[in-house]
Amino acid sequence: MTDIELTLRQPFDKAQDKAQGIASTELIERDHAIVAAAIYRYTDITFQRGEGVYLYDFEGRRYLDFVAGIATMNVGHCHPDVVEAICDQARILIHGASHVGYMEAYVEMLEALKAIAPGDLKNGKGVLMNSGSEAVETGIKLARYVTNRSMLLAFTDSFHGRPMGALALTASSELYRRRLSSLLTGVYHTPYPYCYRCPLKHKSPETCGLACLNLVEKALQTVVPPEDLAGIVFEPIAGEGGYIVPPDGFLQGLREICDRHGALLIADEVQTGLGRTGKMFAMEHWGVAPDVVCLAKALGGGLPLGAALARAELVDAWPPAAQGTTFGGNPIACRSGLTTLRIVQEENLMAHAVEVGDYIQSRFRAAQKELPIIGDVRGKGLMVGVELVNADGSPASEIIKAVIKEIGASGMALTKCGASVLRIAPPLIITQEQAGEGVDVILNVLRHNQW
Ligand code: PMP
Repeated sequence: MTDIELTLRQPFDKAQDKAQGIASTELIERDHAIVAAAIYRYTDITFQRGEGVYLYDFEGRRYLDFVAGIATMNVGHCHPDVVEAICDQARILIHGASHVGYMEAYVEMLEALKAIAPGDLKNGKGVLMNSGSEAVETGIKLARYVTNRSMLLAFTDSFHGRPMGALALTASSELYRRRLSSLLTGVYHTPYPYCYRCPLKHKSPETCGLACLNLVEKALQTVVPPEDLAGIVFEPIAGEGGYIVPPDGFLQGLREICDRHGALLIADEVQTGLGRTGKMFAMEHWGVAPDVVCLAKALGGGLPLGAALARAELVDAWPPAAQGTTFGGNPIACRSGLTTLRIVQEENLMAHAVEVGDYIQSRFRAAQKELPIIGDVRGKGLMVGVELVNADGSPASEIIKAVIKEIGASGMALTKCGASVLRIAPPLIITQEQAGEGVDVILNVLRHNQW
């Protein structure tokens, strides 16, 4: 019997709760009493500790982590080298503040990013922040300042963060914007090529991609004067929006439009970057290099860290004190991230991500025949989306939360993206066998319930 099966058979029984700290049920009760309900949980799992691809709750129950703290824990939980790097750094310097003086780990982190960056970013320069939202806001502030242009184009189904600047770009759900109008002005959205549900009703990915590019051109002829366009902000694969992979030619088209109008191409690789999709940067799948790239999530190896890296001449045109942060580029977060990046490179985890990701996709494709609830399977590397659909093909948005809760109760941590997409983004160290066990858990839940 596999460990997963064992986990599945353990009932969630309060009497069985052994104190390893607090009981899960009590923690959840206390949490609900004090934490804003706006912080929504997709599962009822409590996290007492993590190790490799597993999380453990306060009763010692084990969960396969199929979402890695939202595409973050690339080398798994508490990797010994990462723990050691964190402790070593904590013993010598916890915080310095980049406005006050110079920190070696900060410099090393940007040097490491420059070494792996595509195109002109190989000679890039940058800024470290604390999160993905801050990385994006840094990117758009830089773009607006150095171009001295005020407008930005972004896409529906995109997610760039929730603070008010980044939120003006985010367009994956009206919920995030409700009662928050009057965001950053000058931002326009055109459709992202979500070919499975082509927003323009095209049948083939090629024509869907072309039609979406045409709408960018149309916006530039109607609402966004090209000489006012500071940049186009895009995700190479739309993350929160539903793990949507754009068709070939779309990103190249955006690059060409920016070049033609002297605007900057700003890639939000917060979720896709640093190896998850099988390349260091997802846009490399299409041979596209941006002018600015925004990173976070895996960047800090589990600690808060964001970065915006841009062509050197752009960064050099940004005057002293134009950007700043107290904690951004914290030395412990940098050491944790640098160690994580080294392991991804040394252990060839990108090739591994492609192999295991392809295996996961093939398993769901095979199951599609028997389970009509699986509408689409897509992704790159270990960024895999499984779109659940109703009998009429519409998104199964009514049931997806219950499906994920059930998966959680069956021993696996998972979340959703888009309206009804299971978001599979495990640590890159996951073995094919572990991935197979995870797929089994999901398929069992899909099979054994009347969804
Ligand atoms: N951009 C993308 C593509 C993201 O996926 C996210 C977070 N899901 C963000 C920006 C915002 O990052 P953070 O939550 O760290 O602010």
